[in-house]
Amino acid sequence: MTDSPHPSVELATLLSRASDDAGGSIPPPIVQSSLFSFDSYEAFEDRMAGRSDTAIYTRVQNPTVAAFEAMMASAEHAEAAVGFASGMGAISATVLSFVEPGDVIVCVEHVYPDAYRLFERVLRPFGVDTRYYPMHALETDPSLLEGAKLAYLESPNSVMFQTLDIGQVAAHAKQHGVLTVIDNSWATPVFQQPLNQGIDIVVHSASKYISGHSDTVAGVVCASQALIQRIRDRALPLYGAKLAPFEAWLLIRGLRTLVPRMHWHQKSAREIATRALNHPAVSAVHYPLHHHNSSLSGTSGLLSLEVTDDVDIRTFCNRLTLFRLGVSWGGFESLALPAGVGLAQAGEANSMQRFGVPPRLIRLSIGLEHLEDLWQDVATALDQSRT
Ligand SMILES: *Cc1c(COP(=O)(O)O)cnc(C)c1O
Repeated sequence: MTDSPHPSVELATLLSRASDDAGGSIPPPIVQSSLFSFDSYEAFEDRMAGRSDTAIYTRVQNPTVAAFEAMMASAEHAEAAVGFASGMGAISATVLSFVEPGDVIVCVEHVYPDAYRLFERVLRPFGVDTRYYPMHALETDPSLLEGAKLAYLESPNSVMFQTLDIGQVAAHAKQHGVLTVIDNSWATPVFQQPLNQGIDIVVHSASKYISGHSDTVAGVVCASQALIQRIRDRALPLYGAKLAPFEAWLLIRGLRTLVPRMHWHQKSAREIATRALNHPAVSAVHYPLHHHNSSLSGTSGLLSLEVTDDVDIRTFCNRLTLFRLGVSWGGFESLALPAGVGLAQAGEANSMQRFGVPPRLIRLSIGLEHLEDLWQDVATALDQSRT
């Protein structure tokens, strides 16, 4: 499927395949067992010695989780995948599997706020130095990667949705022997296949589009067999942020409809971004409407607007009726997150503060509701909030 000119067509077919060994059942069974027993001493010993590969204990291996991992690996054109209890579980397990004290991480600006806090609050005190650069600098200046152990990328990045030519950065990284990791939660494999562009590791918050139903928190990492084995060997037995069988089952359910959902999100979000650009109360739209220079083949449903000075942002948010106020994104329901709320977050500086998100920005997750109803909601709230 790598060579297909219409990868999403084939991806849709791939993701709708029934399980092979579920006795005719379309979804796989939820194997809700903590451990797996053996028929004999010899079978038990063979497994412990690595001469067989059946499941032993669900912290490390479970058939329902394995079914999800196999679907994700094929969707991302990866040799292997490993599921986690959250996107942050996937991100921290991946990064901690490769960096040591004294190492340098090169990272994009406007990285997901909790990834930023992992680098600053956990890794910096352990002697890992993370350096942040604007997207265009990483594309044009290969020397920024010199001496780094790992490049941590997002494209588009969080909140600002700036894009990166990831093939270009992957090529620079290869030149300097730097391992590349990208968070592909925004685009999903429907609109971006980073491993085909030379990136080493793809991480996802599966809580977003992969689940698609706002009913589970999960993560997944996709890469070569060797890289996944290294992450598995450390992260699952030692850190233990494993994915539960029921959550894996929900994610498989979500993956079945990923392709049509993404195309629907794209259609509505592009229309809302375009109409917002032409609305007098909107001063900027952050969304890769024109993504020809990036590695995206399409765009998803998450974007940001900046409203003009005469819009009262509290009133705007409180007047929205279809859009709910909340964190997260990628579900069927539309959501709004005003930057002012993110900037008010208690505790240590988050990435929105560090990289300077515009205070008059509102992030919108465009759900699966009818486009005209959604636009009506935004336009009415804008009209009613202008002073
Ligand atoms: C939500 C999110 C994460 C974290 O995922 P969780 O499943 O919430 O732990 C990571 N990256 C991006 C871009 C996200 O939006």
